[in-house]
Amino acid sequence: LSDRLEGAFKTFTGDNKITEINVATSLKEIRRALVAADVNYKIAKEFTEKVKAKALGTENVLSAVKPGQLMVKIVQDELTELMGGQAAGINIKGTPGVVLIAGLQGSGKTTFTGKLALHLKEKRKLKVLVTACDVYRPAAIDQLTVLAEQVGAGIYKEPENKNPVEIALNAIAHAQDEKYDVVIVDTAGRLSVDEKMMQEISDVREAISPNETLFVVDSMTGQDAVNTAKAFNDRINYDGVVLTKLDGDTRGGAALSVKYTVGKPIKFISTGEKLNTMDVFHPERMSQRILGMGDIISFVERAQDQFDEEEAKRLEKKIKKNKFDFNDFLGQLNQLKKMGDIKSLLNMIPGMKKMMKDVEIDNSAFSKVEAIIQSMTPQERANPGLMSMSRKKRIARGCGQGMDDVNRFIKQFEQMSKMMHKMSNNPAMAGMMGGKQ
Ligand code: GDP
Ligand code: MG
Repeated sequence: LSDRLEGAFKTFTGDNKITEINVATSLKEIRRALVAADVNYKIAKEFTEKVKAKALGTENVLSAVKPGQLMVKIVQDELTELMGGQAAGINIKGTPGVVLIAGLQGSGKTTFTGKLALHLKEKRKLKVLVTACDVYRPAAIDQLTVLAEQVGAGIYKEPENKNPVEIALNAIAHAQDEKYDVVIVDTAGRLSVDEKMMQEISDVREAISPNETLFVVDSMTGQDAVNTAKAFNDRINYDGVVLTKLDGDTRGGAALSVKYTVGKPIKFISTGEKLNTMDVFHPERMSQRILGMGDIISFVERAQDQFDEEEAKRLEKKIKKNKFDFNDFLGQLNQLKKMGDIKSLLNMIPGMKKMMKDVEIDNSAFSKVEAIIQSMTPQERANPGLMSMSRKKRIARGCGQGMDDVNRFIKQFEQMSKMMHKMSNNPAMAGMMGGKQ
């Protein structure tokens, strides 16, 4: 999608004025791009009409801005609007609060249940209980049990009971007894919308009257996502949507159309299999991402969550004293890895997506560097200044890499630590390095 939109904006490069003609050309391209990304044709058309009216209307007001940039801004604002404008929070009240998770099988409900539990625990400091109402697949209960353990949430399960309504009610009673703040009820899905599933989920919903019913949908299913979203909404009138699998090459069409079609906000997005790959859905960031500008804000937030502040301070001190060594470097590498799938993170950086097309970045690039450092003696790791030709030769042999690789890495390391040291002694730059200030 981003590529095609970029093409559409080319019409506006240079200082050409926004005119009826180049707006029309550009909008046709934008519409085509949206349709290609699974956005319903009608929605795409209405969208471009709105953009057109705005573009022609603002011509004189902002004559100082380059038309191309203005056009990007208008399209981005409209996309943001289409996806709901503001980020929608989730509502948790009562003792306990109750969140019901619904959706098709394989959409990512159970994974999301784990992620939401972690989110509520870390961000809202709530005591979270999860419960498995998937009575058809015993493996689903085990899956949720493992997730609950990983995130430090409680789990309520009844493997013998075949009635999801009873299990959900019992879970809530258990939560009251044990003073949990919130219960997340994970449910069973089926491969396609059918009456039995709908009946079951609406029975559960009626019995437990949740604060929030969230509908989970796989964004890779394109136009189908919108149809499923509609079918569930007609039946259970949910409060918000969770878009999963927005990592990889997923097209943005679902995000654009769902809000428009069902009138319910997208509340969370899920971008990977790891537990920390969930973000609150921010329409303005999503539209930036769709436009290829990258979701920098989410990137920075996720990075900040992961980097230990203490560690950052310690490092800052070392850098100031020009004592940054290979051990520190290795530590940073491991932090980076913890942040989740590297490629999906890099994709959030503006311009990166394009560059990454030909470059296969995966963790093997890191393994190479890791292997080199592992082959150093503890003394060498702590004292980068010791490095000599004979040591490098020994390291290259030890890790099975070429001399070139070892030389290149050590040179890069030296340049990097020199630069960091310089920056740390420049008060204006120092603030950028110490993590949160
Ligand atoms: P459920 O049947 O709705 O409970 O779906 P699951 O939570 O069991 O997820 C189905 C599969 O999708 C599992 O293999 C998950 O690891 C995977 N999955 C879930 N969410 C995401 C996501 O955001 N991105 C990716 N790449 N995979 C996901
Ligand atoms: Mg499941």
